[in-house]
Amino acid sequence: MRASKLFARTLREAPAEAEVASHQLLLRAAYIRKLMAGVYTWLPLGLRTLRRVEAIIREEMDASGAQELRMPIVLPAEPWKITGRWQTYGQEMFKLKDRHDRELGLGPTQEEVVTPLVAGEFGSYRDLPVNLYQIEWKYRDELRPRFGLLRGREFLMKDAYSFDRDVDGLRSSYRTMFEAYERVFGRCGLDYRIVEADPGSIGGDVNHEFMALAAVGEDLFVSCENGDYAADVEAAQASTPEPAPPGDREEMVEIFTPGRPGIQDVAELLGRPAPDLLKCMLYDAGGRTVAVLVPGDREVNQNKVARALWPAPVRLFDDADFAAHGFVKGYVGPQKMSEDALVLADRSVRGGANWVTGANRIDHHVTGANVERDFRVDRWEDVMRVNEGDSCPRCGGRLHIGRSIVVGHIYQLGTRYSKPLKATFVDEDGTEQPYQMGCYGIGLSRIVAAAAEQFNDEAGLRWPKALAPYDAVVIPTNMDQAAVVETAERLYGELAELDIDAVIDDREVTAGVKFADADLIGYPVQIVVGKRSLQSGTADLKVRSTGQRSHAPLAQAARAAVDLLAGAP
Ligand SMILES: [Zn+2]
Repeated sequence: MRASKLFARTLREAPAEAEVASHQLLLRAAYIRKLMAGVYTWLPLGLRTLRRVEAIIREEMDASGAQELRMPIVLPAEPWKITGRWQTYGQEMFKLKDRHDRELGLGPTQEEVVTPLVAGEFGSYRDLPVNLYQIEWKYRDELRPRFGLLRGREFLMKDAYSFDRDVDGLRSSYRTMFEAYERVFGRCGLDYRIVEADPGSIGGDVNHEFMALAAVGEDLFVSCENGDYAADVEAAQASTPEPAPPGDREEMVEIFTPGRPGIQDVAELLGRPAPDLLKCMLYDAGGRTVAVLVPGDREVNQNKVARALWPAPVRLFDDADFAAHGFVKGYVGPQKMSEDALVLADRSVRGGANWVTGANRIDHHVTGANVERDFRVDRWEDVMRVNEGDSCPRCGGRLHIGRSIVVGHIYQLGTRYSKPLKATFVDEDGTEQPYQMGCYGIGLSRIVAAAAEQFNDEAGLRWPKALAPYDAVVIPTNMDQAAVVETAERLYGELAELDIDAVIDDREVTAGVKFADADLIGYPVQIVVGKRSLQSGTADLKVRSTGQRSHAPLAQAARAAVDLLAGAP
């Protein structure tokens, strides 16, 4: 490729709205251009990098035995209503209507398409297992699209779906995908962690996330200092304290706490630490009131609550709910919860006694509230957010919270979709069984952004060679000297013969501009030919990722570039 023809105008400055390195650099280096919030055009350089990611994924998926197909992006609403996701996805799903007023959606994920498809084609146990995948653009109407490709509204995904006869088969399919994912992310050169994860709106049981480490990442994960436990913060558990020993229980006493609805305010007034207080959060779960209890220094993890109450849709009480049910915001306690309400306590609440909590009356709290005597708990669950420094559930070591970008997510769905969609096969004994399903996603456009976050410096992008749009750039520094241009052109030709995908920067611009662009775009190897090269009979070479510089005789420069590329990360 000739830089003079390449559809790529680099920018010296990133637009002000670009806040993170990947967004800034992908714009500056002419990989992407914004069309509207969260929606980008992939310019030729960007598309080449995206295609390299795609090629790696396709190779590993094919090698794992999965078969590629292509499903529609525009989807009918009906199957989504059956699985409940038309509602649970809510406004995150782009919804539209056709001219006959039929409801349609743009696919954010495609269990509702692939499940009936397989049921219609493969109806016998003899057909199974089968694993189908596609690499397709997906849509999600993010409330606040930002950080460029990291939280976009259109993104490229690989999604695969496995169908098995039984749970053992599902586990085996899952393991195969798990290993394929390790190879994909390893080949992309990413620094990543595999963590246990929250299934979110996909549902199902066992699942793992593949998280690319990045300081700007919005996906928090918890890891043990001893390396035996790692989990997405939404799924992470900490070890729970021993139950409080039986012993003295204070009387429950109502106290006057004027104008102090917050935990911290009450703790200060009473001179007691926040963990002595009992936080009582109210949720609506499909019309039923749910009181969720955690110690006062803790946050409720709403995803865990949602999972505990699945499939009821869960939302925090709003002002109207408080009014309708006669609760006083800021002064809620679990005492005298009505019979039809559900009281759900975090397991850590077992470790405390003599709680300070709301008195269900304005400006009043109670002290000495105790489980069973003063309030009931209907269910004990893990509904708490893990904090930095909590104890590991496996070994008791210190837990640390890190930041990352989720680039892959795999799920054991079981019969979460096959049952409601009545997707069954005839088993060996003649009975109809729902498929045991798994689903497996990789965000390709996110991998590009995550790699740009991990591999950059002040000069620009430093791609691992597996992801760079081209392998090398040949830079003639003096375009006005025929011998320089001729030598550079010859080297460019030799690289092509050696199967190196190179760019020759034949633009009539200064050497300084060419060097800056070469660093910004991130070609793994730079080969520089100038007046001095001709005098000394050598070319200057630079490996972008390491900054390592070397010389090679002009006759061997192309070969030297091949060797440098082979040795580059
Ligand atoms: Zn541990």
